[in-house]
Amino acid sequence: MSAEPQTMLERAVCVYCASSCAAHPEYREAAFRMGEVLAGRGITLIYGGGSRGSMGALADGALSKGGRVVGILPRFMADLEWGHQGLSELKLVEDMRTRKHLMLTGAQAAIALPGGCGTLEELLEAITLKRLGLFLGPIILVNTRGFFHPLLDLLSHAVGEHFMDERHSLMWQVVAQPEDVPDAIERASAWAPEFRSFAAV
Ligand code: AMP
Repeated sequence: MSAEPQTMLERAVCVYCASSCAAHPEYREAAFRMGEVLAGRGITLIYGGGSRGSMGALADGALSKGGRVVGILPRFMADLEWGHQGLSELKLVEDMRTRKHLMLTGAQAAIALPGGCGTLEELLEAITLKRLGLFLGPIILVNTRGFFHPLLDLLSHAVGEHFMDERHSLMWQVVAQPEDVPDAIERASAWAPEFRSFAAV
């Protein structure tokens, strides 16, 4: 009997993205397609549980293809009726910190779509945890409308100024569109807890 190797693509990924409805429609379209792509590969989507902006579009895209979507929402946001009502599962948690922790610990990879301070904070925490060997999965940035170029320039600058090691640039991969994410997950450089040895530069 031949067993298929278990790949990232059979599991769950966490997606960070914007709550804004006011950004260019291309961002919400890309989020919807991201959901479709993950569902099409049978990958469970874990995200922040919101119904607005790219977050809502992402979930709608996955649900439209029969995907499994787990939202993790702080209780106060549910009280504000910010939660998506059609998810496979909506977990309510006490605070933002618990939400962020649960989103990443349940996932084998993290994906960031363009967004505001919430998305950027989540992305940078994932990168920081990876630097410390506390999260080992691929981190993929979907660079819709070239949104991430200034952040990528800043990260390169941080490496250039020796706040980070050159090897830290291998912690994330950048793709142009959601359809490129599954391949990027498969091709991502392996990361190991021992890489903590160069966490401090
Ligand atoms: P941002 O990229 O700044 O829009 O932040 C996205 C993140 O902000 C989400 O992952 C949530 O942590 C939080 N957030 C802000 N507004 C909302 C909302 N209306 N519904 C759900 N989450 C929200």
